[in-house]
Amino acid sequence: MKTFLYILHFPLLFFLTHFSSATFLLHFFNLLGSKMCSEGSELHMFLFPLMARGHMIPIVDMAKLLSSRGIKITIVTTPLNSISISNSIHASQSISASKIHLLILKFPSVEVGLPDGCETSDSIITSALFPKFISALNLLQTPFEEAVMKYRPHCIVADMFFPWASDVAAKLGIPRLNFHGTGFFSFCAMEFMKIHQPYNHVSSDTEPFLIPCLPGEITFTKMKLPEFMRENVKNDLSEFVDKALESELKSYGVIINSFYELEAEYADCYRNVLGRKAWHIGPLSLCNKETEEKAQRGNESTIDEHECLKWLDAKKPNSVVYVCFGSMTKFNSDQLKEIASGLEASEKNFIWVVRKVKREEEEEEEEDQDWSLEEFEQRMEGKGMIIRGWAPQVLILDHPAVGGFITHCGWNSTLEGVAAGVPMVTWPVSAEQFYNEKLVTEVLKVGVAVGVEKWVRIVGDFIGKGAVEKAIRRVMEGEEAEEMRNRAKELGEMSRKAVAENGSSCSDLDALIKELKSLAF
Ligand code: UDP
Repeated sequence: MKTFLYILHFPLLFFLTHFSSATFLLHFFNLLGSKMCSEGSELHMFLFPLMARGHMIPIVDMAKLLSSRGIKITIVTTPLNSISISNSIHASQSISASKIHLLILKFPSVEVGLPDGCETSDSIITSALFPKFISALNLLQTPFEEAVMKYRPHCIVADMFFPWASDVAAKLGIPRLNFHGTGFFSFCAMEFMKIHQPYNHVSSDTEPFLIPCLPGEITFTKMKLPEFMRENVKNDLSEFVDKALESELKSYGVIINSFYELEAEYADCYRNVLGRKAWHIGPLSLCNKETEEKAQRGNESTIDEHECLKWLDAKKPNSVVYVCFGSMTKFNSDQLKEIASGLEASEKNFIWVVRKVKREEEEEEEEDQDWSLEEFEQRMEGKGMIIRGWAPQVLILDHPAVGGFITHCGWNSTLEGVAAGVPMVTWPVSAEQFYNEKLVTEVLKVGVAVGVEKWVRIVGDFIGKGAVEKAIRRVMEGEEAEEMRNRAKELGEMSRKAVAENGSSCSDLDALIKELKSLAF
């Protein structure tokens, strides 16, 4: 395999990816690369996110945060992903741009039989592509190791899904920090589930059981676990997850995108019971202050952010429901129709981010020919806005008109909802989202569950329009909604204090930097 690797200064990358040829890029950045070795007393960190938006977005925020503390950052990524990362960084006026560099590794899609350009998990649209994606990730080990040996950073922060990054760090004798992109609660729940396997002692998939050792008497069902756990089988996904979980034990410590006050009991449990070394430095999304950087976060919005803000400006405070299921989840036409009917019946204003399963991606379901999103969109004009593609989520959530968030409970979205002080309707689909739902609805009590019962890998479990309408009304109307809103606002306030000077996340970040410096120099 021909591996090419280049390292670059992001404003130049921005210029070149927009205006120049790739060949020129390669030559140019090899030149720059020679200046990148870690010299002197400046701390240099490699950040290596998984090629999935929900992992790259917080890592880019982390890069901004660390660079604002004078640390030299190199984000390691692949050609296509480098474009959105570079745009996100470029949109940020507040950071020291010269301190963030990109190092680009070729993504071996073709080598493993993936279509060319398939470099991000959201392009893994069928289960059959997943094992190939994992193979491609594993092939990155050699070029990553070459880059580490060449540029000799003082520390590596690598995604949990690169378990071999600890071995690479060990060869250079530097610490590898882990990033798993989720919070303390879900990680504790996952670990206790794995250790005690309570799901093996129930007689049906729907019989509730307690998650052992997890504070708060949290109940769960087998149905809300991934199928490999439900059925006690080993498959590509189970191995991928097992290796990732084990790699945490080999890493120097973990960086958590959360804040102490949000899940104090679980942060203590993670550190004191599970014995993990961790620093909480979030919510990372709060490092985006300006409209432009919020709008460019993660991907280019498919809507003009000013148009979107103007639409929201015309609505009353807390009157709009924002509906978005993250970067990966897609629904078929039947489910979209139920969401649409539920939104309409709730009589609330809404912004709905729609990502639809394309016909060729449908593994089972047939499309409903009697319903059209376009017709619904026309009927709802003025009351509802539909965004096809990518929404400026943080910008929308932070607007005072937004009073509710229907979310799939990805950790970034959950935390962004918390930081915005918005009550949530929880609609988990897969990954650790069912645990996040428990945190939101039962521990924090800032949301209600729409009623999803089953973990599904790619296309979500079916929910009817009645359940959608009911859940929306519960977070938007009446006394219960008022109480949730007050708690949500309080948490939002706490999150801001956590990242401000002397706040818990700010202090943990100080401690992390101090420790890394003491190891490096
Ligand atoms: N996001 C966004 N616009 C969209 C969809 C998602 O900005 O239209 C962002 C969202 O703000 C969050 C991330 O993408 O930061 C999704 O991460 P999350 O952990 O919530 O879910 P995942 O996509 O990993 O399932």
